[in-house]
This record gives sequence, C-alpha cells and structure tokens, in this order.
Amino acid sequence: MRNFYLFLICFVGFISPAFAKAPSAEEINQRGFGTIFTPHMFVMEWSQDHGWHNARIQDYKPFSFDPASLHMHYAQTIFEGIKAFRMTSGECALFRPRDHLKRMNSSARIMSMPEIDVDEVLIYLKALVSLDADWVPGLKGTSLYIRPSMIATEATLNLKASEKYTFFILLSPVGSFYQNGFNTVPIFVCDQYTRASFGGVGEAKTGGNYGAGLRAQKLAKKEGCAQVLWLDPQERTYVEEVGTMNIFFVIDDEVVTPALSGSILAGITRKSILALGNKWGLNMSERKISIDEVIKAVQEGRLTEAFGTGTAAAIAPIGKLKYKGVVYTINDNQVGPITQSLYDALCGIQYGTEQDEDGWLELIE
Ligand SMILES: *Cc1c(COP(=O)(O)O)cnc(C)c1O
Repeated sequence: MRNFYLFLICFVGFISPAFAKAPSAEEINQRGFGTIFTPHMFVMEWSQDHGWHNARIQDYKPFSFDPASLHMHYAQTIFEGIKAFRMTSGECALFRPRDHLKRMNSSARIMSMPEIDVDEVLIYLKALVSLDADWVPGLKGTSLYIRPSMIATEATLNLKASEKYTFFILLSPVGSFYQNGFNTVPIFVCDQYTRASFGGVGEAKTGGNYGAGLRAQKLAKKEGCAQVLWLDPQERTYVEEVGTMNIFFVIDDEVVTPALSGSILAGITRKSILALGNKWGLNMSERKISIDEVIKAVQEGRLTEAFGTGTAAAIAPIGKLKYKGVVYTINDNQVGPITQSLYDALCGIQYGTEQDEDGWLELIE
C-alpha cells in the first residue's frame, strides 16, 4: 500500500523534499489550535467539462485567485474537520474518515456544489498523511487535525452556482485541549442571536455559518463564559448546540441530546457517543429538550451532567449555565462520571488502548 501511495505522489504530484522539521509534541502543545501546517497539501480542481481533475499533492503554499471568485463574495464554501491519531502502538489512524467525507458531500448538496468520490479522496488523504506522517504528534491528547475544504472559484459577480471549484486538504498538528486537566467550562445561553434557521443551511459545514456565530461568541466572552449555548431560531425555547459542538445532558437516568432538526449539525462525535452509550446499556435519547426543562432539572438536582461533543475537543464538560443573568451550577462544577467514562472510552479507541469494536479507525499504512 505504501508503494502505491509513493507512486501516486511521484506521478501525480509536484513536490520538493520537505526540509521543514516536524515540531515536537511539546512545542505543538504550546501553540494555538490550527496555527501550524505540515509541508504538503492535497489539491484538485473541478470544472463542468472535466469533473474533478488535476489531483495532486504539492508543497503547502498560497493560492492565487481572481478577486471576483465566487467564494470571496457569496461564501459558496464547505469544509470538514477530521483527526488522525498516533496510537500507542506507533501507528497512525484516522477516526471515521468515511463518515466525514460523506458529510462533506451532504454539505456539498446543500450548497449546490459538486460531490467528491469518497473512496478516491480517502486514498489521497491517506497518501498525504502518510507523506507527512512525522507531523502526527505522539503525546496523549495531541493529534493531526485534517481540514478538507472546497471553494467556488469561477470569477463572476453574478450570483449563481459556480462552474469551477477547488478542493484541498490541509494538515495541522494540534495540541491537547486538556493540558490543565479535563475540566468544565461555563456556558452562556444566548436568547438574542441564533446560529441557523429552519430551512436554512445549519446542517452544512459552510463558512458563513461560522462567521455569523462570532458576535454571539463575543457576547459569551463578555458574560464570562467560554461558549454559547444556541437555542432554536423560532422560539428560543429548545436547546440546539453549544458553540460548534453538539450537546448532551444527563437528567435522572436519561442521557439526552437534541434530535436533529435541520438546523443542527449532525456530529460524528455525537453519533459515536450515542453508539457507545447504547452499547453500555445507558438510556440514550434524541428528542426535543427545552431550556426551561434543563434549568428546572438543574434546580431540582436531577440534571447531573452536561457536555459538548465535537472532533476538536472530543468531549467538553459543562460546569455552569448562565441564562437570563442567573448562573446555574451543574454537579458542583465537576466533571461527572458518565462524561468521564465516555471521554475515556472515546480517547481509548482513538489512541488504540481500547478495542475498536465498530471499526471506526482507518490505519495509515
Ligand atoms: C463540526 C460541528 C459539530 C461537531 O461535529 P463532529 O463531526 O463531531 O466534529 C457540531 N456542531 C457544529 C456546528 C459543527 O460545525
């Protein structure tokens, strides 16, 4: 397999030998998320006549685009966030990459963009990670964050679906989210701004959704919180997501997450946590859950844990909710046992210390 990758790289790519030395895991831990990039990137282009073509691995370098390119004006862009882990065996593995690439195709359909061939792109992705494998850090908690992205590149100010696209993959070694321990964060329940509308594009990982969330994030910071808890766009009644993560609550013996509503991003970590919990015989449920139900359950001492789920942090425990000026503390602001067990199990699978019973890992050979 490795020979096949080298063949692909030599014949498809235009790359110079990488002189840049991979930073140590300790150095990576000291840097901010998504600020270091490996020496290579994958790029391919799409046109109406040729479909996807010119697939290549090349040096990491700036693009040059016509300033009228559609992505710069009307945000016809989509992306994914995948992780590769250095397992305790020394091997590298991707976590559920097919699910991520399939979701990218779902985002593409929502944004009127061309779909990719999942199997083919997975081969390219593995080749890229294999080439820059030295950059997959080894310390527990660190990983290689993978950013596939697609942008509309036709040069026109006429608002329409582009007839040209560029797809690319960047690799960024990232440090552990929990260098100071696996701790809770305070969350601001936002009843002013919403993340996505019903009938809108909240289900797609498309650029505009994230730029549009920044003002609420700023408000959360001002309120002394780490992230925003988003409520539904119609009534500000039902809980949707937290920051750019899905959300779970433990209420009595139920582990509940909001049902996918069209405005909620269908997280792959969310899906994995639901699967793990079901396997353990926990009472996992996907349903509508109102902020009033959440607050009442906290007050009655029945809501004992809350956490966010997403690729970047895996699980983010929530210790406080600030709603309408009042701070509600969950479980004494401590990480609860279900949150801790799910986090340990997920990380265990990712770093190869627990059995990967569901085949979530794809080894890089
Ligand atoms: C990416 C993302 C998530 C989490 O998805 P994962 O597949 O678990 O990484 C949740 N919410 C939003 C808005 C996201 O963009």
